[in-house]
Amino acid sequence: LAAGLKYRRIVLKISGEALCGEEGGFGIRPETLHRVAAEIAELQRLGVQIGIVVGGGNIFRGLKGASAGMDRSQSDYMGMLATVINSLALQDSLEKASVSTRVMTALEIRQIAEPYIRRRAMRHLEKGSVVIFAAGTGNPYFSTDTAAALRAMEVQAQALFKATKVEGIYDRDPRRHEDAQMFTRLTYDRFLVDKIGVMDSTAVTLCRENRLPIRVFKLTTRGNILRVCRGEDIGTVVEE
Ligand code: UDP
Repeated sequence: LAAGLKYRRIVLKISGEALCGEEGGFGIRPETLHRVAAEIAELQRLGVQIGIVVGGGNIFRGLKGASAGMDRSQSDYMGMLATVINSLALQDSLEKASVSTRVMTALEIRQIAEPYIRRRAMRHLEKGSVVIFAAGTGNPYFSTDTAAALRAMEVQAQALFKATKVEGIYDRDPRRHEDAQMFTRLTYDRFLVDKIGVMDSTAVTLCRENRLPIRVFKLTTRGNILRVCRGEDIGTVVEE
């Protein structure tokens, strides 16, 4: 591990929307993908072991389908497949940046990805491959935030990093309120009591029970992924 880095093993959650480059946008923007991949490549070269969970909201969200009358579980499975598409896109980008990667999926699709097996995932991480965890938890009624918290615990990551579109967690929506204040630190309890929407409460509850710190920061600021791995105090940390 290169000097100055605080974390040896991390799990990074990237929302699907972060890949399409615009708020509420659709699909995958190649430039965004390549930029994210380049930052992850740099981190990997410094010796950080990286697990990534990608969302699917840029393609399909279970709740949206359900609100349009679809069966919720069916709709959620579609959402999970959307995360597989994003995972494959990210894998392609990372490999083009010369990063060895493995996609491990919670739903079996053997022709394109390995099934998720915890011990095997740990082994890939130890050997320096970036592991992309696809298909969320494999269960409907869950989110990729929860999948990220779960995988982070399973592979014994030291922190969960949630890369978002905003700088951190605010006391109200910063896109609607100019005077919104960003927290630099929040306790799990405060996060849960205040029903903060940045991350779902199941994920935060899991992290609380296992004392896994969560750092929320802006993905599109160049160098941020590296900064958080150095332990710099950017964005908002949610901890005890
Ligand atoms: N999903 C699910 N179970 C999981 C993870 C994801 O059912 O364990 C589905 C759910 O429908 C969700 C969709 O996959 O809406 C995409 O994931 P998410 O909304 O978390 O993506 P993001 O908002 O991070 O892009």
